Amino acid sequence: MGTNQEKAAPEQKPDEMLQIDLCGGQVRVMLCETTRTVQTCADLHACTPVCTAALGRLMTGTLMLGVMMKGKDESVTVTLKGDGPMGTLMAVSEPGRVRACADNPQVDLPPRADGKLDVGAAVGHSGRMSVVKDLGLKKSYIGQSEIVSGEIAMDFANYFTVSEQQPSLVALGVLTSGDAVLKAGGLLIQPLPGCPDEVIDQLELRSPMFADISREMTFADIDTLCRDWFRGMEPRILERTPLEYKCTCSRERMERALISLGAKDLQSLIDEGKGAELTCHFCHSRHFFTTEQLQAMMDSAKKPGEPREEDEP
Ligand SMILES: [Zn+2]
Repeated sequence: MGTNQEKAAPEQKPDEMLQIDLCGGQVRVMLCETTRTVQTCADLHACTPVCTAALGRLMTGTLMLGVMMKGKDESVTVTLKGDGPMGTLMAVSEPGRVRACADNPQVDLPPRADGKLDVGAAVGHSGRMSVVKDLGLKKSYIGQSEIVSGEIAMDFANYFTVSEQQPSLVALGVLTSGDAVLKAGGLLIQPLPGCPDEVIDQLELRSPMFADISREMTFADIDTLCRDWFRGMEPRILERTPLEYKCTCSRERMERALISLGAKDLQSLIDEGKGAELTCHFCHSRHFFTTEQLQAMMDSAKKPGEPREEDEP
């Protein structure tokens, strides 16, 4: 026929982060949908559903930290080193984009007694969470906290409270069906200094509504949820940021990684004469360097910099 084009999948809105304030600026809220971002990650790493949920929650939380970064060259890296079978999980975000990886993204575990994916068991119930904010110009901020449950939303809430002294309510959710991500998203609520107790009480009263965020998102988009959840609290959308899974790796970055191995390791690669192939952990792109190219890198790394005045005879 050719007139009616077949639709492969139901149309989906692009992922987006809403930055919202409530009660005239007394509360800061971030509400986002990350369905496509999480699906891209799941496909790239061939994740099992429980690992999709773990990486999806981690990326959603990291995106929230990412949009808080101000400068163009700033980024945030969140690492979870738990005692679960997934090993280390890592997500890196600049405003609006994120990438993630895990040691073992194909771990499979039986669901919890309540039927939910057992993210806590996959990540581990104890270990370290670290947040590194790269502020450009070689400045960085490092925050450390304990993993409190491995369910990730609680771990982010604990990080904000312990490491940033900012009490926070965090909800992160990923709803899957087989390999498909049906919905994913997150919510962060932060009462700012001076926020009256009545407002905090109101938010606590409403918190059961946010608990199952990915399921709520199957019924309504985030704009509708924002209106419904914060009715009577003057929700104002201050900013909208499109979100995507995007890797920033390049041949130049891979070259720098090779040089950072150090002269000894680089030389042994050259001596082996087989070149070197590097695979990006975040997007699996491969970059191949010939022995001649490795030698050229070695030579340019050895070359001293421009002579400075005091070096001159
Ligand atoms: Zn990459």
